[in-house]
Amino acid sequence: MKNLLGGKGANLAEMVNLGLPVPAGFTVTTECCVDYFKNNSQLPASLMDEVWEGMKKVEAEMGMKYGDSENPLLISCRSGARSSMPGMMDTVLNVGLCTTTIPGLIKKTGENERFVWDSYRRLIMMYADVVMEKAEGLEVGIRKKLDEMLDAFKKSKGVEEDTQLSAQDLKTLAEQFKARVKEEIGVEFPDDAKAQLIGAIKAVFKSWNGKKAVSYRRIEGIPDDWGTAVNVQAMVFGNMGESSATGVAFTRNPATGENLFYGEWLVNAQGEDVVAGIRTPSPLNDDTKNEQNKHLHSMQEAMPGTYEELNNIRNILEKSFHDMLDIEFTIQEGKLYMLQCRAGKRTGTAAVNMAMDMLQEGLIDEKTAVMRVEPAQLDELLHPICDPKEEEKVEILVKGLPAGPGAAVGKLVFTAEDAVAEIRKNPKAQLILIREETNPEDVEGMRVAAGILTARGGMTSHAALVARGWGKCCIVGAGKLQVDVVTKTAKVEGTNIVLKEGDMVTLNGTKGHVYQTALLLVDASKNPRFKEFMAIVDKYRTMSVRTNAETAEDAKVARDFGAEGIGLFRTEHMFYGKGSEEPLFILRKMILSNTKEERVNALTELLPYVKKDMKATLLAMDTLPVTFRLLDPPLHEFVPQSEEKQAELAKALGISVEAIIKRGEQLHEMNPMMGHRGVRLGITFPEITEMQFRALFEATLELAQEGYTPKPELMVPVTCDVAELDISKEINDRVMAEVCAKYGVEKLPYYMYGTMIEIPRACLLGNKMAQTADFFSFGTNDLTQMTFGFSRDDIGGFMNDYLDKKILAADPFQTIDQEGVGQLIEMAVQKGRATKPNLKVGICGEQGGELASVEFCYKQGLTYVSCSPYRVPIARLAAAQAALKNK
Ligand code: PEP
Ligand code: MG
Repeated sequence: MKNLLGGKGANLAEMVNLGLPVPAGFTVTTECCVDYFKNNSQLPASLMDEVWEGMKKVEAEMGMKYGDSENPLLISCRSGARSSMPGMMDTVLNVGLCTTTIPGLIKKTGENERFVWDSYRRLIMMYADVVMEKAEGLEVGIRKKLDEMLDAFKKSKGVEEDTQLSAQDLKTLAEQFKARVKEEIGVEFPDDAKAQLIGAIKAVFKSWNGKKAVSYRRIEGIPDDWGTAVNVQAMVFGNMGESSATGVAFTRNPATGENLFYGEWLVNAQGEDVVAGIRTPSPLNDDTKNEQNKHLHSMQEAMPGTYEELNNIRNILEKSFHDMLDIEFTIQEGKLYMLQCRAGKRTGTAAVNMAMDMLQEGLIDEKTAVMRVEPAQLDELLHPICDPKEEEKVEILVKGLPAGPGAAVGKLVFTAEDAVAEIRKNPKAQLILIREETNPEDVEGMRVAAGILTARGGMTSHAALVARGWGKCCIVGAGKLQVDVVTKTAKVEGTNIVLKEGDMVTLNGTKGHVYQTALLLVDASKNPRFKEFMAIVDKYRTMSVRTNAETAEDAKVARDFGAEGIGLFRTEHMFYGKGSEEPLFILRKMILSNTKEERVNALTELLPYVKKDMKATLLAMDTLPVTFRLLDPPLHEFVPQSEEKQAELAKALGISVEAIIKRGEQLHEMNPMMGHRGVRLGITFPEITEMQFRALFEATLELAQEGYTPKPELMVPVTCDVAELDISKEINDRVMAEVCAKYGVEKLPYYMYGTMIEIPRACLLGNKMAQTADFFSFGTNDLTQMTFGFSRDDIGGFMNDYLDKKILAADPFQTIDQEGVGQLIEMAVQKGRATKPNLKVGICGEQGGELASVEFCYKQGLTYVSCSPYRVPIARLAAAQAALKNK
């Protein structure tokens, strides 16, 4: 149903089935949209005949006639894709108003001339923008120009609100609008109801391929060939006076998940006024009141009867859909109509809380609860917040509505394009996108920004919805900001503070506070529901989740997040960063040795450091497996490059600077990623391998004798032939025997010897590799590099072109290229298990914590995925969902 009718159409049909008050209408299917594009933008042959047939039924039900001079019916044409794309496609309201129908409508509404002319000027604004400009691929900016005319007109009349304009004013304005449309676009505004409806349907189809819709689909991974449905529905009016209104609500609080009805409404208004952030909406009820809106009348206070009816519908809908819904409604002269309902976007915190509440309420079962939370949403629960102590000390610059959770610190940018350009230059830049109002056109800039701040709009505005869906920190409706995109400045009303591009600010998206400083961020406090939820998740998960970690601290964090072991301990990390000076110095001494004897001496000196780190990590992961990898990078990486550092090292080692330079030159490689690294180092210098085995075995046996349960695994990186594994295995066995003798034991309590699979040849020869290896761990970073022939460190220069030109659908270093690299993985698993049916197989490349890759790994029968500590919960949920989906 949803595939054909789109989400909106299918849910409207469901609401009708539930007996709820829905204005009469019908849905043009997504198939028609697909055909429309296939047919070179021609409507399918019989479509308009069927539309006119459908209209007859709508007319009969509403007791009105479309295009009639006496009793005219007006229509809305709304987009609606299979998967919700809030605000990304177009809608046209008030279709059918023209010279023939205007007098009839005035008469019918009891001479409500003001309402009719207001509807007409709205039709002109929307139709000119959506149908006459955007759908025709023009860039006139007509909507903005008409908005400016409206503002100027209000000024000339000395009024502030649209509602203060008289019927005659609106009539004059409509005439002026039409003249301006003709002048700007070169085409007369259509004064014919039939032509308007055809134009509106086509325009909604075309909005599927509008810029913002295409961007949103790319980000959300929605296929381009789905198309949108068009919902043609009788108009009901929220702008017929004080007993009319329109609103948007969520059946539960979308930010926190609390089981409280939550929404906004506006008296005497149409839907666009609420969602586009043009007027600041009033709270729906007491539960929705906050500092910014508490002085405004709620619907609960102003229209208690209708509010009760709506509240009742809220319960009916939740019972039927078993989910939190986002609803749109209109009250026309006291009568309530439901215009739309769909699963509501929510923050990660809300998603977890609601899933657990609904499970307890018996509304959903455990499996549904597990599927209810998107794995990426968990990220927010693990996201930083402002350090509460620091926050107390600083003054709030401005307040807005808390639309997206957590905190963000960054430099201000004033346009989405600037944000995208800045991120392309520096992918790590932390930016706060500041805008006057919420605009779906900004979607790409919103995506790359760390936080979003707007001066206008409510909690249900597009920016708020989109940000919340992404779990991005976002504040909307900070009314004291006067944002000027031309000068790229924002004045703070009532002060002489002017914010400029590049200024540092902090957003607290949970409270809606903006600070003119960079505050310290700290981890979000643990949500107790999170643990309960994850326990349920684990019930349905069959694939194990490990972490990539090199320090005892990281191992602890990951263990707290539920890691079931370490899938990759990169030994070389002990030579970088904090506390690495001494071991790095000895390593360099080893590299600069001239004889084997010197090298062995240096390695003996190094052993205690390696052992200490291994021991600390085995201890932090006590009882869980830890996969250590032999030293991987080419050695030249450790030889200092700068003259100063070379001189320092020469002095410390008592050798000449020239000797260092010479060794550096000897080690220099044209393409080190494919050079003397990984297992190859140990083939040339077996003593390096030997030292690592010794350190590991000694660390293990010492811990075992101290009463712990260490579970070491060792893997050999960058292998392409089983002979490499065999040579290292000989060293392994000899050293193990020596160490066991030293500690007076027969064997290690637990041990596995395996290999990373990072080279296509190793995949092709998986059956042979498994003869020696007890396990495989796919290093998909290198495997991707070597399968594509793309240098993993140099893709920045061209990957965007590959994505823009659609050569690749996604960056294969972020998500496994299932089509190519995936075949190699599949082959290696099958061949490896043909040799050893119980071969343990994991993945430890960066893709190991990415959703689609986790599902792929599950389907390939991998034993575990391993990812960075903060992605562990995400991978756990993704693995459980993969198991439930692929049952
Ligand atoms: C890999 O290649 O996927 C891997 C995990 O190893 P590294 O990134 O250290 O090369
Ligand atoms: Mg690698």
